[in-house]
Amino acid sequence: MRTIGLIGGMSWESSVVYYQLINRGVRDRLGPLRSARVLLDSLDFGEIEALQRQGDWARAGELLAASARRLQAGGAQVIVLATNTMHKVAPAIVAATPLPFLHIADPTGAALREAGFDRVALLGTAFTMEQDFYRARLRDRYGVRCIVPDEGQRRDVHRIIYEELCAGIVRESSRQRYREIMVDCAARGAQAIILGCTEIGLLVGRDDSPVPLFDTTALHAAAAVEFALVK
Ligand code: GLU
Repeated sequence: MRTIGLIGGMSWESSVVYYQLINRGVRDRLGPLRSARVLLDSLDFGEIEALQRQGDWARAGELLAASARRLQAGGAQVIVLATNTMHKVAPAIVAATPLPFLHIADPTGAALREAGFDRVALLGTAFTMEQDFYRARLRDRYGVRCIVPDEGQRRDVHRIIYEELCAGIVRESSRQRYREIMVDCAARGAQAIILGCTEIGLLVGRDDSPVPLFDTTALHAAAAVEFALVK
């Protein structure tokens, strides 16, 4: 089994989910007492979030590149970055080590294509919804076009991620707001919805949406298991 190097802590609430899903995935494939070989380098999200707000992506990229190097030095054989937003600095991480990097948009794009969806809604932080680093990869590599919620909706989606989900707070009123937004996206023609932030699965699930959900955390964790188990 290959060793997974997880860059986590962004936030740790979702890193916990990655750790569970990866271990369950290995157990389900190999047997009840089997578990994944994982190195977790967990960063201080407060530091990363401040850099995001300041727009200092270069410094954030350096911190994540240093994390990837630590994981390599510890014996990791693949790098998995447990956040969608920070894939904005994926090139800095890729350049930091010769290890394969499992980009979170890839298993998501592949799953959407396999399901036959090419017009979907993307929920995530404002960085992920509004900038091109994520949407362009889905469009260019998988032929998937993303629509995003309107401005007021995006503000709420973003705020709930940072003020609540990343702080371990799950509110019924916020679940209701996400439900409304997902209904609206479906009415605007989204065939499916990408949960493009690794904490959103803590708030909503299949029954909250009129169209299928593609949870990037679950898809990314499954891709990591797949990689680890290749003979
Ligand atoms: N975990 C989130 C994501 O998947 C947001 C936190 C962050 O900015 O890294 O985008």
